Amino acid sequence: MMYMFQQKWFAIVIFFIFAVTVAGFPHPIEAQDAIQLIDQSWESDFNQSVTFSAEASSSAEITEADLFYRVVGQLATSRNDSDFTPGTTVNASYTIDLTDPGNYQPPGTELEYWWKFVDADGNELKTEPEVLFYEDDRHDWQYLENDRLTLAWYTGGDSFGKTLFERANEALDTLEADFGASIENPIKIFIYGDQEALLDAMSAGAQEWTGGAAYTDYGVVVIGIRPVQLEWGLNAMTHEMSHLVIHQATDNPFGGGSTLPRWLDEGIAVYNENRDELDDNFKALFERAVANDNLMTLRTLSSPFPSDTIQANLAYGQSGAVVKFMADTYGSDAMAELLAIFAEGALYDEALEQSIGLNMDQLDNAFRESLDLPPLPGIESGSEPAEVDEVEEATIAEEPVSAEMDENVTEPADEAEVDAAEAEAAEEVEEDVAPAAEEPAAAAESSGPLSALPCFAGLLTALALVGTLFGWRAVQ
Ligand SMILES: [Zn+2]
Repeated sequence: MMYMFQQKWFAIVIFFIFAVTVAGFPHPIEAQDAIQLIDQSWESDFNQSVTFSAEASSSAEITEADLFYRVVGQLATSRNDSDFTPGTTVNASYTIDLTDPGNYQPPGTELEYWWKFVDADGNELKTEPEVLFYEDDRHDWQYLENDRLTLAWYTGGDSFGKTLFERANEALDTLEADFGASIENPIKIFIYGDQEALLDAMSAGAQEWTGGAAYTDYGVVVIGIRPVQLEWGLNAMTHEMSHLVIHQATDNPFGGGSTLPRWLDEGIAVYNENRDELDDNFKALFERAVANDNLMTLRTLSSPFPSDTIQANLAYGQSGAVVKFMADTYGSDAMAELLAIFAEGALYDEALEQSIGLNMDQLDNAFRESLDLPPLPGIESGSEPAEVDEVEEATIAEEPVSAEMDENVTEPADEAEVDAAEAEAAEEVEEDVAPAAEEPAAAAESSGPLSALPCFAGLLTALALVGTLFGWRAVQ
């Protein structure tokens, strides 16, 4: 009996202590949860707006409701005052106006967002971050994906998408094998059904001749490919992807990475389109410039490319030929080292000397020597003779200009038509595209310009040629 009695009293004491604890002291969780999130949602209208909404309540009046967001993979966070009426229960909303080119987000963007509420008693609530997948839901997309990339398309059927997906994977293999450039984050490629649909998905500021773009800070490529343009599309997609991967490999979001010289960036993209020989659009111009000994210098090609169409196409072709020469002569280890040095932030000559033992002028001369051209005036040849792959280089250097390409380049009627359209376009590109391409820092600005990298010269020529074939014009 005694034993039972003690146990009963022990239970009562415990209960009493528990009751005092609960009633007599503030519940520690209660203070943090003074503000309650009741509901939240978002709604997007592609390329128009994204609206975030949240309902919250508190015992004291809620006086502050801010929406924070950032693009996943980027550092900058945007903080925004929402619209709401202060009270103990509030319905707050914030809309991103996507028609403002400064707010543009490409399809496939992932936005991380959260809310912060503050009430009159000083309580705060920061909600758990959520991720919004921003997609162009106006089209019925099909997807193919693996751990490296996702390809989305909606016209052309299964085989069209499969062909593009396979080429995209080959492009990644080439970049890894020849340049040691493997992707850190999976990339997303959106294939629009034609150029009009592409432009409709791009920023209002996009030029009407744009055929494709690489949003290097987002890991996104957008491109307009009609099923009848598949051959062109495969090259254009590969070209844009190459930019994206090279930027991933050399941009350092924490600072320190260097922007590549233009000829290297474009040259890798052109080379990756076809490792065996130059694209037909560039080949004739390049061969003619070699025959006439009027190639541009690599120093000149380190800056934005010429606005003149013919010169711009020569710049692309020559850049591709130089990169092919480097890959064949110095090998993939040296190319990988070159990119790795740029990733740490290095000057052009410094990076070249460390990786291939030549500065830019010496490389220029080694390249010229491989083409049987005299050295540049006033510049010593490289101390190490270039081990030129003579068979392959001879193919580029000596193959006669094809009659077909010759017509496209020189026939007065064709030239006038292409030239007028492209000259106008090319001028605008220098203003709008070059700065974004030169400024990786744009990634750190939440509402700043995007690092979109439309590659116009090659795409333009192709568009113009396709336009001639199919009766439409790239530029109206
Ligand atoms: Zn390019």
